[in-house]
Formats: sequence, C-alpha cells, structure tokens
Amino acid sequence: MLCENIGVSGAHLTFAGRDVTELAEKYGTPLYLMDEDKIRDNCRIYKKAMADFFGEGSFPVFASKAACFKRIYEIMKEENMGIDLVSSGEIATAVKAGFPMENSYFHGNNKTDFDISFAMDSGVGHFMVDNMCELEAINELAGERGITQKVILRLTPGIDPHTYAAVATGKVDSKFGIAIETGQAEAFVKEAKDFENVQIVGYHCHVGSQVFNEEGNVYLEAATIMLKFFADMYHKYNVKAEILNMGGGFGVRYTDADPYMDIAGNIETLSKHIKDIAEKLEIPVPRVLMEPGRSIVADAGMTLYSVGTIKEITGYKNYVSIDGGMTDNPRYALYGSKYTVLLANKMGEECNFKADVAGRCCESGDIIQPDVMMPKPVRGDIVAVCTTGAYNYSMASNYNRVPRPAVVMLSGGEDYIAVKRETFEDLIRNDI
Ligand SMILES: *Cc1c(COP(=O)(O)O)cnc(C)c1O
Repeated sequence: MLCENIGVSGAHLTFAGRDVTELAEKYGTPLYLMDEDKIRDNCRIYKKAMADFFGEGSFPVFASKAACFKRIYEIMKEENMGIDLVSSGEIATAVKAGFPMENSYFHGNNKTDFDISFAMDSGVGHFMVDNMCELEAINELAGERGITQKVILRLTPGIDPHTYAAVATGKVDSKFGIAIETGQAEAFVKEAKDFENVQIVGYHCHVGSQVFNEEGNVYLEAATIMLKFFADMYHKYNVKAEILNMGGGFGVRYTDADPYMDIAGNIETLSKHIKDIAEKLEIPVPRVLMEPGRSIVADAGMTLYSVGTIKEITGYKNYVSIDGGMTDNPRYALYGSKYTVLLANKMGEECNFKADVAGRCCESGDIIQPDVMMPKPVRGDIVAVCTTGAYNYSMASNYNRVPRPAVVMLSGGEDYIAVKRETFEDLIRNDI
C-alpha cells in the first residue's frame, strides 16, 4: 500500500485502522479525514532526527499553510513544534488555538503594515524578512512599540530543484527573498545590521517542494552557499547570526511510483555537511531549523467522495463524477498533481474500467485525476483519494457556492470533528 495507515478489510478500504465507508456513512461526503496519530509520528521523526543530528536548539517548524485550522495548531503545540505563518489569518487561527506565539515564524513576500502590526501585537517570535521595504516597516513599527524584533533574512541561494516551476522557489529570479548571487543580499545585511529596532538572528532559504532523496543534494548545495554567505557576513561585518533555516520541501508518496523519502537519513547527511563546511569556514555551527509542511500532514489525509454520474463517451473516454472536486482539491487543476484514487467499497475487485475522476464544478478543468483504473462504479459508491492532507483543505474554495467539507480527525480508533462542514448559512453569512 501507498502508506502504512492505508489498508483493506474485506472489500472495504481502511484508513488509520477505520473502515472508511462507515465514516462516509456517519459524516456524509465529501469528507476530509486526518490521521492525528500519523501527524504526530511525522512531527516526532523530524524532532528526533534534528535533535540527534543537529543538536540542541535545532527543531522543525511546521509550515502551516499546508493545513491550517485550530486543531492542527493545538497538536503542534502539544508536539513542541515551531510553526510557520504566512498571513494575519493564520496568525489569528494560531492565537485562537492557544499556540505559544514566541515559537512562530512569520513568512510572506508582501506583509502589509497591518500584518506587521498584527503579528507584533500577537507576539510572533520571528519575522522572516523578504525585502528591504519590509524591513524598514518592521523597524519603524517595532520602534513605535519599543521592542527589538528578531528577524531572519530570506535569501535565494540560486538553486533550482528538479521540480515544478510553480513550486521551485530558491532560484535567483524568484519572487521570494533576496539574491545572494547579485550581491543584493550582502548589501541588505550591511544596511540592516545598523537598524535600531531589529536584530538579525539568522538566514533562511527554501529551495522548493516535493524534493526526493536523489535530489536531496540540493539541500547540501543550498547549505554550502548559505554558510559561505554566513561566513562572509560574520567576518566582514561581524554579524553573528545563530540560525540557519533550510526551509521545507521533502517529498511524499502520492502514487506507488513515488519513492520513499528517508527523512532522518537526509537530516543526518545534511548535518554532517553543515558541520564540515562551518569548520572549514571557521564559523560557529549554526542552529538549524527546517520547515516541513507537506511531509508532516500529506499522508495523514484522505478525502472521501460519493460517486454520482458515470458517463461513457463511446469510442472516447469515461467520466466518473463525484460530489466534490476543485473546490476541495484544486491541485490537479492547478498543476497536474498526481493522486492515488481507490473505489473504497470495492477493494479487491478487478480494476478494468478507465475513467477521469471529475468534480462537480462548472469548469472543464475540474478533474481530480485523469485515467484512473478502477472497478466499474455505480452511483453511491465511495471514492477515496489518498495523500490529501496537505494543500487540500487549506486551498479549498467556495466556487459554485459549494460548502467546504468537514475535517474529521482519527486517533487511537476514535473519530471526532476538527472542522465542521460548512452550511448554506455559512456561505451567505457576509452577504448584505
Ligand atoms: C511552502 C513552504 C514550506 C513548506 O514546504 P513543503 O513542501 O510543504 O514542505 C516551507 N517553507 C516555506 C518558506 C514555504 O513557502
């Protein structure tokens, strides 16, 4: 199976040890399932490997744009994770969940004055600064409050992992961060170090997303460039940044063709590399932060749908339409993401029917996955899409006034609602 929390019992698919057809019956479809125990396991794999190999003060920071709702922040608090935030909305959600905001890191390439003020007043620990305009605003707003704001500078090491352009963010011409190669990063530090109300505590880079073992050397390359920069700033300007934040991006298995990612192994290799380079450059070994998003929550998620129309276009192709679509999972429509799709109540039957699994929206591109092989379904069958824990709920919309599905958490054989299904009343709440 794709992941160890997916199984089969009789003709039914199981997830986190539960018969998913029973959960579909209990809560209705479409439905997001999240395996809480798996989320915690994933956090612990990162926590342990980072503490073991990088040492004290190095830890993972969950990139919460991958899955953002109150319950997630409570789990992150319980697991002692840091969190990345990218908007005032995410900050507000984390605050409501009682997350200790000193362990939060605020990203974004265009923080407004409102965002900056809101983040400071919410006690956000670190600002990930994207550009000089933003740093000036932070300096001013921190001054008004009489605080010294800790900042980490986001840099682009000029590395292009072999992934989609839409998710490759470490290139020189990226909209995020400041380029090292052009000399702009150095000019930035040179000026920023004298700002009164900010303190530069580290540097950040994020090379991209869905990166696997064989491309894992992009992290080593990025670390080399970042440490060299670190050393330059240390020796030239006496800037003693203590944190190196290597971003997120470890890949997950969407289909059986995807490799397994050795998280601990990659962290061990990276730690040796960083220690070696730091020694050669005669700088202290920095504390290392990483920002996993997808690899914390993706395989903890599954989406259930009911089959509606089955359309066979003779001589062309077949469509199996489901009661959700791009409103709850826009990722195939956005960038052709692959998914494993199963007919949850007919497991073990021969997969001899080929169809595009289509959503219900008025948009031809509303496809969850093309060319799926499955047993021929009938109306009312349950379709399960695997590995949907990342960037599904958080990217969901109300296009066509489709209410967002509920998020049901599974833990130790129990199930509970973490996010309620939206009602029609929710949809019109702000309409005057
Ligand atoms: C999106 C993002 C992450 C998380 O990436 P994943 O591929 O989900 O691990 C981490 N850091 C930054 C800055 C990001 O933009």
